[in-house]
Amino acid sequence: MIIVFFGPPGSGKGTIASIVKKELGIPHISTGDLLREEVKNKTDLGIKAKSYMDRGELVPDDLVLEVLKRRIEKPDCKNGFILDGYPRNVEQAKTLDRTFKIDYIFNFVLSEDEIIRRLSNRRICPKCGAIYNLISMPPKTPGICDQCGTALIQREDDKPEAIRERLKIYKEQTEPVLEYYGDRVINISTENGFTASKRASKQILKIIRGEI
Ligand code: ADP
Ligand code: ZN
Repeated sequence: MIIVFFGPPGSGKGTIASIVKKELGIPHISTGDLLREEVKNKTDLGIKAKSYMDRGELVPDDLVLEVLKRRIEKPDCKNGFILDGYPRNVEQAKTLDRTFKIDYIFNFVLSEDEIIRRLSNRRICPKCGAIYNLISMPPKTPGICDQCGTALIQREDDKPEAIRERLKIYKEQTEPVLEYYGDRVINISTENGFTASKRASKQILKIIRGEI
């Protein structure tokens, strides 16, 4: 089963995927996470990608496709996967359609005010990738990851200047993908923080299981 999670930065794609993947037993593939891993390991690809990412711009399609292909070839993807952060422009959407039959496309919907509030309060664990929010989902000990005890950080692209750039790029390059997909898109509201993520996860599982 191939599922696409679509939506603006901060719409809850990663949080919801971490819930849904356990229920479905398929991996969550975030192109953002794959690219950050390359940056961390200072690979050639990571060095090329870093400057785009820090500015909040899109990384060139061929680089993203390369990390994605490598990941999808791994055996744990044989029964499918949840794609988060790909496609991010119409060209990528076409590439994906040429390669796979997508079963579900979920689009997460929330207001711009809420997006900015979430991104600026987001902190992540650089070691295990856990995601926190200082307001709606703070760690038990301030500044420390609940799961592994590492000091939390703010992503370079979650700083105000880069947030503005990411939203601009989302509107200009990513949103047109919704038009391309047309009525294949299922809209899911994630307006109200972590409760919304839990509710959205339940709703998605019901749709996939044919219960609604
Ligand atoms: P977000 O929180 O904005 O959804 P991600 O973790 O998905 O962030 O992505 C972080 C950055 O990685 C993006 O701003 C972009 O530079 C790069 N990136 C991730 N996925 C793609 C993609 N499909 N195409 C181009 N760039 C990407
Ligand atoms: Zn951690």
